[in-house]
Amino acid sequence: VNEGRAAAISAITRRQAKSVTMPQPLNKVWASDVFNLASMEEALSKNAFKAMKNTVQTGAALDPATADVVAAAMKEWAISKGVKFFSHIFYPMTNATAEKHDGFIVTNSEGAAITEFTGSLLIKGEPDGSSFPNGSLRMTSAARGYTAWDPTSPVYIMHTANGATLMIPSVFMSWTGEALDKKIPLLRSNSALDKAGARVLALMGESDVATINSSCGAEQEYFLVDAEFANARPDLLLAGRTLFGAAPAKGQEFDDHYFGAIPARVQVFMQDLEDKLYRLGIPAKTHHNEVAPGQFEIAPYYEAANVAADHQQLLMTLMKATAKEHGFMCLLHEKPFSGVNGSGKHVNWSVGNATQGNLLDPGSTPSDNLNFLLFCGAVIRGVHQFGPMLRAVIASASNDHRLGANEAPPAILSVYLGEQLEKLFVDIKNGKLEAAKAGGYMDLGLSQILKFERDPGDRNRTSPFAFTGNRFEFRAVGSSASVSGPLVAMNTMLADSLNWVADRLEAALAKNDTKTAAVMDVLKQLMDAHGNVVFGGNGYSEEWHRAAVEERGLRNLPTTADALPCLREPEVVELFKSTGVLSPVELESRFEVYSEQYLASIEVEAKLVVEMASTMIYPAAMAYLSQLSETALSMKEIGIGISTGTASKVAGEMEAMMAGVAELGEALSKHDFSSTEEHMHFFAYEIRALMDRVRSHADTLETLVADEYWPLPKYREMLFIR
Ligand code: ADP
Ligand code: MG
Repeated sequence: VNEGRAAAISAITRRQAKSVTMPQPLNKVWASDVFNLASMEEALSKNAFKAMKNTVQTGAALDPATADVVAAAMKEWAISKGVKFFSHIFYPMTNATAEKHDGFIVTNSEGAAITEFTGSLLIKGEPDGSSFPNGSLRMTSAARGYTAWDPTSPVYIMHTANGATLMIPSVFMSWTGEALDKKIPLLRSNSALDKAGARVLALMGESDVATINSSCGAEQEYFLVDAEFANARPDLLLAGRTLFGAAPAKGQEFDDHYFGAIPARVQVFMQDLEDKLYRLGIPAKTHHNEVAPGQFEIAPYYEAANVAADHQQLLMTLMKATAKEHGFMCLLHEKPFSGVNGSGKHVNWSVGNATQGNLLDPGSTPSDNLNFLLFCGAVIRGVHQFGPMLRAVIASASNDHRLGANEAPPAILSVYLGEQLEKLFVDIKNGKLEAAKAGGYMDLGLSQILKFERDPGDRNRTSPFAFTGNRFEFRAVGSSASVSGPLVAMNTMLADSLNWVADRLEAALAKNDTKTAAVMDVLKQLMDAHGNVVFGGNGYSEEWHRAAVEERGLRNLPTTADALPCLREPEVVELFKSTGVLSPVELESRFEVYSEQYLASIEVEAKLVVEMASTMIYPAAMAYLSQLSETALSMKEIGIGISTGTASKVAGEMEAMMAGVAELGEALSKHDFSSTEEHMHFFAYEIRALMDRVRSHADTLETLVADEYWPLPKYREMLFIR
């Protein structure tokens, strides 16, 4: 083994699991660092608490006087826990989280230090926003951006090595009021959904309808690699994935990892992480091994989408930081290792309210069933009408490696309903249920039909968008992505669809005798226009890729370069405008920011390919080659002839690799693109192909060059040693 790798392996072998204190009982730690309704009830006067609770539960505005009272109580609570700083925390258009810390401290006229935190400091912050991407929404000279407190997501304390900070979940906007972040659109999409949903429920005769909100439970997949290995791989450090690496003799073919015993060091990591999550009120519920060696999953229990999205960001931050403390690097990249399963984030999503409950739950009464069918039908229409937009919001350079790769959902958006429900919708389309109506079969029949067995065995792993009994699971989302984009997309398309349903329901109710008949009428129209998107077969098959496009008219958008331009299509612009979720300039800014990110991340990788091939792989191969040739020469001197086959092969691969490197370098210097679309297309199809070409020669070299010369930790080491 190469010296550096040998040192890493021996360090890992000697490594002790980090000792963590025994976990405390859940009721002791649960949300202990969160200023939630329970802590507010203790800290606030009755009236202030009532106002705050109303704001948290309905999003109603808070008057300035109450904000002052809340701020003061918040400060007392935080200081009693050793906090000296506060920070608005916000979510710029990158997938990152941003913070700006300020002290509670102010000095008075006598020069004494006192602490101060007013309602206006709580409500508004003014970070210098110039370093956040804004997609031309704001001139960089007019750097000012505002953060504003989002009282519907609780304030919490973040402990770091250098102290504790009070974190205030916030929105981030330009001085002209445009959304520069991922939270504002999410909040707007919830209210669009609320309005449209209420319209449908009112038509259905529901008299008492509480605010409708969306919920989200995200399953997060990730890899853990020992830090000793990760630090020796420039690609893992800078790009989060391996750009080189030959397949190991043993991969995931034995399926012996999934749900297997969790390795001891990983268990300790998980326990430590979960302890931190509980203190922050994040309901981590399940954890297990995933399919690939070194791959794991964590899934918190679902929450209101806005809170879940904040918690998801916090979860990713804590996963990375905690892994580091345990000597691991946590990889959230969608495809860290080629040839090995990638990581996704399954976004489980439902919509509901306090009066009707979960509107995507079939329920047990005929009227529940009818509401359910309308909402479920509206989702079907949404995915059909706006499939390319849903594809666009999950598009990234990293997710391109995973989607459509025969172990992850295809890049074609379709809906899986399960056998029972699919049959029901198809029967409605074919008028079969309608015919049975006369005998009064319908109402009874529906409630019978919809008594679902929620059998997880019945899941279709090949579908990008699947109904799972009482929610939809958007399975094509990337593991490193923020869940906000997908949630905004789902809420917004559903709002539009519910308005479509409401328009038709109004007409249908006027011309049919019963509500049931009117609903069937609308659903039949819906299925006639949009039923093509329902697909229960194998999404991985080539046959589906052909049929989806040729027979069903669905679009296959294999790369980000193909998908992102959909955000510019008039229909999508109109969708976001009419629902009030994003103005046309706000939407355009998203296209700009995401395409910039796409280009930047491929450029970083391509430069790394050039650098690693030239400065690490070529020299290693050359050292081996000179050893081979020296040996051959000295053998020849003593009259022994040995084959020079390996030497020629190594030399040939080296030459071919460097020819690819030269071409890639040249391609990277091309800058005259007439549009962003053309630029992205060039990266997706030319640059990526050249990177793959360099890699294939490098990976062949890895299988030829003597192990002791190979400087990069190998797949078998990174995947199996921990
Ligand atoms: P799986 O079998 O898909 O791994 P899990 O039990 O791990 O299922 O749950 C997946 C996620 O779905 C969890 O975060 C769970 O809380 C969430 N979930 C369950 N019910 C709902 C719902 N009605 N709406 C949104 N998310 C939900
Ligand atoms: Mg799962």
